[in-house]
Order: sequence, then structure tokens, then C-alpha cells
Amino acid sequence: MISYCTQCGASVALQIPSGDNLLRYVCSHCDHIHYDNPRLIVGCIAEWQGRLLLCRRAIEPRIGYWTLPAGFMENGETTAEAARRETLEEAGAMIETTAAFSMVSLAHINQIHLFYRGRMLNPDFHAGTESLEVALFAADEIPWSQLSFRSVKLCIEHYLADRTRGAFGFHEHELHPDFSSL
Ligand code: ZN
Repeated sequence: MISYCTQCGASVALQIPSGDNLLRYVCSHCDHIHYDNPRLIVGCIAEWQGRLLLCRRAIEPRIGYWTLPAGFMENGETTAEAARRETLEEAGAMIETTAAFSMVSLAHINQIHLFYRGRMLNPDFHAGTESLEVALFAADEIPWSQLSFRSVKLCIEHYLADRTRGAFGFHEHELHPDFSSL
């Protein structure tokens, strides 16, 4: 929630703006409407010579667990640019993005996770500030019990299955709260 207007600092109140049908924080002074919408988290499942690039998280949540490079999309960039930027920031790897591959809606936490397929342009990588370590994993080396998020596990599962059958699709899921695993 917010208490003060981001535009003028006056107090805000929850109300339904005219023409809308949901409660929003509206400024009592300048009428600015503070929309609160889902966040897009964009990442990449990138390969180098058949092995997959994973990062071990240096930050919460799920610190110490392995993940695909991914993060919050920034204003002014495309989704593919976000995937390449996050891979460079977290894994120190230059990639080309091939195609959008997996999209997961997590309505209970107001997030959408979008993963691209990608290829590393060279074998160089290193841990960025948000990673403890970065490594390449063959299909039979994936640390399944040490993966950070269900959306990451789904993406890797689909990727390996699609690669085995020789055709990559686009995979859409809805994940709901599951307190036995993230
Ligand atoms: Zn205001």
C-alpha cells in the first residue's frame, strides 16, 4: 500500500476512479491515480554446446538455490533485451535470444515469468553481484532438488523435453500457491 502521492506528496485514499471498476490509491490533492499492476520477470534459458547456464542465487528469496538468469524488466527495454541484460548481469554471459519459450502466470504474487531460449555467443561467464556462482550443466547434471522456483523447473523440464523431441514450442502455465515447494 502507499500513503502519500508520488506526484505531490499529499495523502491518498482508496477509491474507484470514474470509468474504472477497481479500488486505486487516488491523490486527495492532484487526483493522480496510483496503479499497481503485475510485474514482468524476464529471463533466459541459454545453452553453450548443449549445456545450460544456471546461476546460484546470492540474494533472497531462495538464496543458495540454482536459477535461470532472470529479473525485473526495466522501462524502455524490450522483453528480449531484458533477457539478454539479465543474463549478462547475473551470469556474465553474452547471449543471443532465439525465441520466447515459457510464460508462467503467478497471479497470487502478481508476477509473470517469461523465459527466452538463447545461445551463448562465447564460452565466457562469471558470477554477477546477485549470483554466488555460475555454471554450465548437461541435461543429466541439472540440480533438480536445488532449483529456486517452480517456474524455473518448468522451463528447464520443457526445454529438455523439447530438445529431445527436436522441436521447441511455447509453453504457458498458471501456477497457484503451493506451500510444499516454491
Ligand atoms: Zn498528488
